[in-house]
Parts: sequence; C-alpha cells; structure tokens
Amino acid sequence: MIHVSIDERVCKGCGLCVRACPKNVLALSKTKLNAKGYHPAEVAVPEACIGCASCARTCPDVAIGIVKE
Ligand code: SF4
Ligand code: SF4
Repeated sequence: MIHVSIDERVCKGCGLCVRACPKNVLALSKTKLNAKGYHPAEVAVPEACIGCASCARTCPDVAIGIVKE
C-alpha cells in the first residue's frame, strides 16, 4: 500500500507534481484554497499510484511525502 501525502499548507499550486505523475494520480483542487490563497494539489486517484516518487522529487517546496507500507 502506497500513501501519498501532500502538505497543503506548503503547496503553492504550481501543478508541477500533477504534470510529473505518469499515472495522473494528482490534481489541483478546484474547490479548496490554502492559507496562502492557492489551490493545493490533492491525491485524486490514490489507487493508481505506483510509488515512483516523481511527484515528490519534482515539488520545489518539498510538500509531498511517499510512504510505502
Ligand atoms: S508516486 Fe508516482 S505515481 Fe504516485 S502520485 Fe507520485 S508521481 Fe504519481
Ligand atoms: S509541485 Fe509541490 S507546490 Fe507545486 S502543486 Fe505540487 S505539491 Fe504543490
């Protein structure tokens, strides 16, 4: 089981992780705004994640963590 966590407080909604994911797991929230006023990334299709960590490596703000259980 792979768990992707996104620290929404840190996220600046740049979308780099969304583009980096080969499985289209991530999306920018259409409804949520964080305290900085950005639409944060969220895990839209968690079951599609293969744990490649491309998203975590791409995030300039180190907002993404990958945990394999
Ligand atoms: S670990 Fe890989 S497959 Fe999973 S969300 Fe990140 S980029 Fe996508
Ligand atoms: S790359 Fe990082 S800062 Fe940019 S949208 Fe994804 S989680 Fe947020």
